[in-house]
This record gives sequence, structure tokens and C-alpha cells, in this order.
Amino acid sequence: MKRLSSAVETDLSKPSSTTEGNYDLITFLERYRTSFNGLTLIFSLFFTITLSAQQPQKKYVLVIHGGAGTILKSQMTPEKEKGYTDALNEALEKGSAILNQGGSALDAVEASVRILEDNPLFNAGKGAVFTNEGKNELDASIMNGKTLAAGAIAGVTTIKNPISTARAVMEKSPHVMMTGRGAEQFAKEQGQEIMDPSYFYTEDRWKGLQRAKQDDAETIIVDSITKQSLLKQPENKDYKYGTVGAVALDQHGNLAAATSTGGMTNKKFGRIGDSPIIGAGTYANNKTVAISGTGWGEYFIRLVMAKTISDMMEFGKMKLKPAADEMIMKRLPALGGDGGLIAVDKDGNIAMPFCTEGMYRGYVKEGGKKVVLIYK
Ligand code: ASP
Repeated sequence: MKRLSSAVETDLSKPSSTTEGNYDLITFLERYRTSFNGLTLIFSLFFTITLSAQQPQKKYVLVIHGGAGTILKSQMTPEKEKGYTDALNEALEKGSAILNQGGSALDAVEASVRILEDNPLFNAGKGAVFTNEGKNELDASIMNGKTLAAGAIAGVTTIKNPISTARAVMEKSPHVMMTGRGAEQFAKEQGQEIMDPSYFYTEDRWKGLQRAKQDDAETIIVDSITKQSLLKQPENKDYKYGTVGAVALDQHGNLAAATSTGGMTNKKFGRIGDSPIIGAGTYANNKTVAISGTGWGEYFIRLVMAKTISDMMEFGKMKLKPAADEMIMKRLPALGGDGGLIAVDKDGNIAMPFCTEGMYRGYVKEGGKKVVLIYK
């Protein structure tokens, strides 16, 4: 009896009356079939690899920020710097995983912002700055560049992830913006995570409020155009500012923008900044650009910052970089304000201008290489 190939040995369907001659033929055919299958497999693998190597991966871009301010290397400890860098990398990782799998820009910006909201280092969600009354009042907004749909909430004190409630306002309500208790009631009905206000407390921000109260009591400055008195911006604005944001272009060519903040330390009387205001701190339009801003909100509102850049591109036929630079590096400081923004245009070009000392920022594109920056 000849030794049979393993393929034949395991073939229980073979008739038991087979003669030795037939056995040889069957063994040959089985061997031929086995090696033919192997060859087919190798060839199809080869063609798949060659084809996917030839097809360039579709374009996607994610840009994030964790706030602009007086961020000096000399004032940073290596541990603190690592904390910021790790958090920015984590936010990029989370959002880009969605984009890489062909997910939407909207899902990506929401996911990235949630990571930064949950991190106490940033002025959004947990770690938000305190109002003059010692509360944490949160603002957020999100915009879909494909449909120009938008959602925003402002002045909320119990919503763990304001950006997700802003998205719920956009998708599950007929409104664009909700404030205070109404927004909180809506969030509860939508099954959003509700926290006791004490969840948002951090010692650093509490100390920041005490410093800001002292600073704000000492001096006022005068607005260069309106000659109105304004709250002084202290030397080290890092403890006063913050805000997180994300903008993305997905593989389907859709843009989205998201911004979330605790606002400005020592804010009074239900003050609301630019972050939840569509067109000021957040804007996205598939025809032009997606933008998320950070900085002195009153000036971003007055300059209608994000929408103005979009209009400069749409109607003024300007490119992203000169348009963003004109607004952030010239018009914003000329009025007496400061800050920065992140932007990605419909072709995937990025801009991250700021006229402060630094801005926590980062980006990732198809291919997956993450870039994180803090200083000038
Ligand atoms: N723009 C925010 C606000 O004015 C603050 C910030 O970005 O730091 O509320």
C-alpha cells in the first residue's frame, strides 16, 4: 500500500473498494488540487497586495487644539508637558481611527473633543475654569460642513460631555442652541451622562480663580476702538484661558468642526464666549473650511471669526492660510484681542495660526503620522 497524502488520508468520503491503481490516480489528482489551490491563493494574495499598494489611501485630516495662551517652555515642567502631549496624542488617535476606517468627520471631531473634555488638564468638561461665583459653566458647539447643520449648548453645569449634547441638539432637536437648565433637561432626556457639579472641580482651576480675582480687581484696560473698559488680561493667561477643539476632513470629502470650553476664568453674569457661537468660535462648510477657535472670546464674536474666514475663501477667493493669518495675526490683535485657531479646508490644507505665546495643537493625516506641538 502506497503512503497517501494527508489530504487523501483525511478524505473520509473515499469509497473503500478503490483499487491500488485508482489510488495512484486519486492521490495525484488530490496532490495536484492541493498545490493548485496553494498557487491560486499565492497569486490572489500577490494581486491584492499589488493592487492595494497601487491605490493611494483616500485623504483624511484631523486637527485638534487644547487652547491658546501664555504657554512658555520656561514655565513648563517635563511631567506637565508629557501630560499635555499624551492627551493630545490620545485625542488624535481616537479621532483618526474613525477617519481611517472611513467614518465621518463629525464622529471624529466629537470623539477627539470628548477625550480632551475628560482630561482635567484642559479647560473643557472636567478641568473647566471657574466663574466669579465659583461655578463651572460649560459651552460647546459642533457643525456639519455637509449640511450646515449645527448644535450648541451654553452655561451648563452638570453635563459630562457638552460636545455630545451639542451634537444631540443638532441631530435630535429642531433648535441650534440651548442654554442652562433647559439644555440640561434636554441632555437628561437624551440619555447623556449627567454629573454632580463637583465632578468638574480641580484645585489648579480653583487657584486660578483666586489669582484672576486679584488681577481683575487691580487693573482695567481700554478697548482700542470702542474706548470701553475691559477686564485686564493678566500676564499669565494660561490659567485664565483654555478651550479644546477639533476639525476634520473625512474620506468622503466632508468637513466638521467642534469646540468645547469652560470659558474664561472669573467670568460674570452668565457670560458666554465665542465657543458655542456658530460662525464665531466654530464653523464648517464643505465648500470652504472647518474651523475651531480659542482665545479671548469677546473679540472672536465681534470679528465673527470663523465665518469671516470661510467668506474670505468663498467670496474673496482667498486661500486658507492668508485668510486665517489676516484674521488671527492682524485683525484680532489690532482690536486688542488674542488667541488662535485650527482649520482644515476642503482640499485638506491645514492652518493653525495663533498670536499668543503658544497653543496646544496637533494633527494627523492619512498614513497615521501624528504631530503634536505646543510652543511657537
Ligand atoms: N474662547 C473661549 C471663551 O472666550 C476661551 C478660550 O478659548 O480660551 O470662552
